[in-house]
Amino acid sequence: GKKESTDLNALIKEYVNLSFHGMRAGKNPINVDLVFDLDPKLGEVSLIKEDFTRVIINLCNNAFDAMREKVKKYEVPSTKYNEGAVVDGKYLPKLRVSTMLEKGRVRIAFEDNGPGIPDEIKDKIMQPFFTTKKGTEGTGLGLSITHDIIKAHCGELIIETTIGSGTAFLIQLSK
Ligand code: ADP
Ligand code: MG
Repeated sequence: GKKESTDLNALIKEYVNLSFHGMRAGKNPINVDLVFDLDPKLGEVSLIKEDFTRVIINLCNNAFDAMREKVKKYEVPSTKYNEGAVVDGKYLPKLRVSTMLEKGRVRIAFEDNGPGIPDEIKDKIMQPFFTTKKGTEGTGLGLSITHDIIKAHCGELIIETTIGSGTAFLIQLSK
């Protein structure tokens, strides 16, 4: 792929929505409060489009999988939820996707309110084939590919996570 000038906000919206609708139409759908907070100042960013779409899809799918595990833990059937609302004060999965242009740098954040990542596996999740998913559910390649793509864009991938309250994957790129 070649770098091309890209409306990054539009790309993010399109592929986050694609991941969301894929998850909703899939085997184990969960209700997710999907929130976009996209900086209108972002403008065009030079990207290898087809690679960057994989980053967006990988990070969304990981967030949905992680939040599905938390839903199971709470043992509340997904039918008990209304879209976008909390019912009976129970856990509602939420994914916030945001962009920000700051000092000429592009920041993209995928923040979920899932289970978080335990310390003992945090250092391993970027390794190829590392997965905590059973059977054929996970290949363990998503984050290593994501990391490679961001590196190829001279960007950075930062993880902030808190057990029980969620995980943020932050991407920094130069514009
Ligand atoms: P896979 O999704 O196939 O397991 P990935 O490389 O995409 O492989 O992710 C590796 C592991 O990182 C996952 O199995 C999971 O344990 C952990 N992980 C990734 N994203 C999240 C997240 N948002 N919340 C909690 N754990 C996560
Ligand atoms: Mg994955």
